[in-house]
Amino acid sequence: MTIDSLHSWLVLHNQPLLISGPCGAESLEQLQKTATGLATNSHKISLFRSGVWKPRTRPNAFEGKGEEALIWLKEIKKEFGFKTTVEVANAQHAELALKHNVDVLWIGARTTVNPFSVQEIADVLKGTNIPVMIKNPIHADVQLWLGAIERISNAGITKLAAIHRGFYVYGKTKYRNKPLWQAAIELRTLLPNLPIICDPSHISGNRDLILPVSQKAIDLGMDGLMIESHYNPDIALSDAQQQLTPKALDELISKIIIRKGDASSLQHSDKLSELRNAIDEIDDELINLLKKRLLVIEQIGEYKKEHHIAIFQLERWQQILKTRAQLGDKLGISRQHVEKICQLLHEESIRLQNTVMNK
Ligand code: PEP
Ligand code: MN
Repeated sequence: MTIDSLHSWLVLHNQPLLISGPCGAESLEQLQKTATGLATNSHKISLFRSGVWKPRTRPNAFEGKGEEALIWLKEIKKEFGFKTTVEVANAQHAELALKHNVDVLWIGARTTVNPFSVQEIADVLKGTNIPVMIKNPIHADVQLWLGAIERISNAGITKLAAIHRGFYVYGKTKYRNKPLWQAAIELRTLLPNLPIICDPSHISGNRDLILPVSQKAIDLGMDGLMIESHYNPDIALSDAQQQLTPKALDELISKIIIRKGDASSLQHSDKLSELRNAIDEIDDELINLLKKRLLVIEQIGEYKKEHHIAIFQLERWQQILKTRAQLGDKLGISRQHVEKICQLLHEESIRLQNTVMNK
């Protein structure tokens, strides 16, 4: 896959790259007021974002102004010199965005999940090489994210970026969309040259979480941030709780700590390689211990088979969870971490016993 660097299609004013603008384009005046604020900020934006077709979960919510808003965005480009970006969800959107000279397109989470829609958009974009940013699908399926990127790449687009906007999970969490950072790290591992931009607004769903989420994204080496802004968020027609005023955005960006240290630079390399060696040794021990554990589990499987004992024993599992969590507490290891590891160990234990029993 050919992937051009961000520099080849964007002016990068600050570190990190910043994309901002309202969730949805509501009126020319709203866009102008927001753009005026952004233009006076000390942290300059590289792209002015705005949804003109809003994918709403329920009907009767603000669904965007469509083509009319694309004309307003042209006005913003002329007045403020900002490059613009909008979300496209089908072939018609893509055609209209091209017709109205939108600079960069993005594919939303609800579209990335649908290979038909992504392919439809890709077909329209063939021969243009317009930059495209692909948001992660709503659920944490990295292959589906990758597939959407491949479809756009196969259409000949080389100006590509991914946007990490978090994942829907059932039940209440403090996030609107859980970040599940590991998914973004997995994408980075699969496509090391692909820029990844974090969208803390849609991860957070409220203003309070935007700073910690942005900081984390930067600490994980993400290439930029897309944060929604509105000159008066409280009256926004969509995503009111998560939008920031341009001024609040500027203050927030000032608070982000950029840790620039290059791990390969001289002053770090000795200390870091010493610590990495220590980690290598510990991991070695861990894997050897895992093997030991699996050998015992095999024997348990044989025993249970012989004595007709069911594999899953609720009481034993509860006892494992409790005692391991207690030990973790004593050692100052997060309970969540211990529980997750126990669950993984248990899953594998059940799988292995199942193989033994049915051998
Ligand atoms: C948006 O960026 O306003 C949007 C609709 O995002 P997502 O596709 O992440 O829900
Ligand atoms: Mn939004």
